[in-house]
Amino acid sequence: MYDNSCIFCKIAQKKAPASTIYEDDDVMAFLDINPLTRGHTLIIPKKHYKDIFDTPPELLAKIHKTTQQTATAVQKATNADGISIFQQNGAAAGQEIFHIHVHVVPRHEGQKLGRFGNTHANRQELDQTAAEIKRQLTQ
Ligand code: 5GP
Ligand code: ZN
Repeated sequence: MYDNSCIFCKIAQKKAPASTIYEDDDVMAFLDINPLTRGHTLIIPKKHYKDIFDTPPELLAKIHKTTQQTATAVQKATNADGISIFQQNGAAAGQEIFHIHVHVVPRHEGQKLGRFGNTHANRQELDQTAAEIKRQLTQ
């Protein structure tokens, strides 16, 4: 169920910090530590599945339902003009953390995306943004 060497399993078990937006028994949404833009959020299942190929379809449906709810709140909180959704499978596709996750990335008119991992947000900034998104989730 959990992989002890996996950072997202540690986050799911509260053994590593995260700026969390939403969680229930199955899934969790939290901010990416290297945001492509402010409000960049990740949605994961709590159980360890590597990628789209080994995730049970019912869980995948739940992940994407949570992605839709999260994207709606992220859009409102960041006033984004658009939202990009990414989900990378395999190193060749750019996957670096081998615990399936969906990226929700706010986009603004005329703003180009940087490269993954090129930015770093501190915990205070992330917690502040998470609180703003959470407020929209409950409305
Ligand atoms: P991938 O390239 O596998 O699709 O994306 C992995 C993402 O996980 C990257 O955007 C990276 O910034 C993010 N990430 C890596 N380590 C951590 C961490 O410890 N905490 C959080 N919140 N995000 C992480
Ligand atoms: Zn994991």
